[in-house]
Amino acid sequence: MSQVIIKNCGSYNPDVIKKRLEAGMELIGGWARFVSPGMRVLLKVNLIGPKHPDTAAVTHSEFVRALVQILKERGCVVWIGDISGGSIAGVAPTAQSLVVSGLAKVAKEEGAIIKNFDKEGVVEVTPASGRIDRMYLARPLFEADLIINLPKLKTHSAGIYTGAVKNLFGCIPGLRKAEYHRLAPDPKDLGQTIADIHQAVKIGLHIMDGITAMQGEGPTAGEVYHAGKILISTDPLALDTVAAAMLGMEVEDIPILESARERQLGESDLAKIEIAGDFDAPPLLPNFKLPRRFRSSRKSNHAVLIKMIDFLKTRPRIKLKLCKNCNMCVESCPVHAIDPESKKIDYNTCIECMCCHELCLHNAVELKRDNLAADIFTRLYRGTYR
Ligand code: SF4
Ligand code: SF4
Repeated sequence: MSQVIIKNCGSYNPDVIKKRLEAGMELIGGWARFVSPGMRVLLKVNLIGPKHPDTAAVTHSEFVRALVQILKERGCVVWIGDISGGSIAGVAPTAQSLVVSGLAKVAKEEGAIIKNFDKEGVVEVTPASGRIDRMYLARPLFEADLIINLPKLKTHSAGIYTGAVKNLFGCIPGLRKAEYHRLAPDPKDLGQTIADIHQAVKIGLHIMDGITAMQGEGPTAGEVYHAGKILISTDPLALDTVAAAMLGMEVEDIPILESARERQLGESDLAKIEIAGDFDAPPLLPNFKLPRRFRSSRKSNHAVLIKMIDFLKTRPRIKLKLCKNCNMCVESCPVHAIDPESKKIDYNTCIECMCCHELCLHNAVELKRDNLAADIFTRLYRGTYR
């Protein structure tokens, strides 16, 4: 039976986090079940972009510090790795992100080794789904003795939620992520690609930083929510199923998790997940704001109409007053839908991946406001909002 440990933790003080982690790990067999002296342990963080840890967009550097200390006390060699999304002049901002997020400082102070996935080379793998012939993943994922996935608890403007399953999308280095978005414009299809990564890479443990979470229009432009939780599991889908329940959602609401369920990445039936630690059921996080698109992910007999309405409700638009002309969005758009000069978006080409919204460092890409007519239609055809 899959287990998910939930521990309360209201602080980013590394000593407090270490105590909570040690207590939580005891419930799934202790650290000795996973690590031994000399092992090379890769901490796969969420380093989506050059964001300060207090924005809740990235795995918090003090959370990572606590883990580095725990692992070094057990004689492990610790690597911290990821890649940031997007690019300017063909270069992803990973190096800048490592500094802004505080991870470079933590690595230096604690004696960990940074693995910038942009610079470490790739390994070619054959995706289990067969949707594409081959896939290239960052080399350190195949050189580490143990990978610990450290997702952040966040909403996602396109995918509704991002957690343990989605965090592995960051294993794809370079500009190939945009290509995978183009090949899989539907979040469920993207979920199949992410499932391919889970099946190609062996992750030993998933520990979610849910001390602060991101609510609203995540994964970078939402607001901070103080959730005060750490979740631990060996099963990424079980962890996400429990985390989603904490936010008031089900697996059916989150296309990427539906794909993970189809691909049997883990357990998605709450009744079959053993929850332990400080809770025996998912604690609901009060007044947590979900992304606008959440309403569109519920099953409906009017799916086509709802899709049309929701497209009207949530398409991205660039606010020229805030735009700094860096062209990150232009270069990162998988279908080249953004005009480099005018910054106008060609909505006939746009696949609604929301990468422009996710990657703009200046919050210049807004999701177009709810449309009154769309709201009325949605109420008529969907019933009540949540
Ligand atoms: S919208 Fe944002 S990412 Fe795009 S060019 Fe302007 S500042 Fe850069
Ligand atoms: S315009 Fe934005 S949402 Fe549309 S495809 Fe390009 S990056 Fe994705």
